[in-house]
Amino acid sequence: MIYFCPSCWTELDRDYEHCPSCGCDIEKLSRSQDYIDKLIAALNHPEPETPIRAVWILGRLCDKRAIRPLYDIACKTSDTFLRVAAIKALVEIGTAEANELATKCLEHVSEVERLMVTNRSDQPDSLGKKEQANGGQ
Ligand SMILES: [Zn+2]
Repeated sequence: MIYFCPSCWTELDRDYEHCPSCGCDIEKLSRSQDYIDKLIAALNHPEPETPIRAVWILGRLCDKRAIRPLYDIACKTSDTFLRVAAIKALVEIGTAEANELATKCLEHVSEVERLMVTNRSDQPDSLGKKEQANGGQ
């Protein structure tokens, strides 16, 4: 399990109460309604790793509000990894609407992307950028 600070998006090695990077109250923020809104807003974040993190977290949270934004991002992004992550998140959310939109997306993606979606992985390091090395502290 990988954790992210919902405020500054720093990757955390465990479930902190307060972010060691920005000091925000992670638990409080995670429980608040705005958390989903923040994640949805992060889908359009200019720093390319942030939308992928947001997509990944939204898939885990299974909040229905994320379905449309995930679909939109899957349609409009030119980033293969982001699109695959968004479609996977839709599959993960798993409601009828999410599944329908995921299927719709899959009709338009390349064979490679389809395989990437089908190949289930629980970690965002399916991005290939990160090694699984989580240097234990
Ligand atoms: Zn933080």
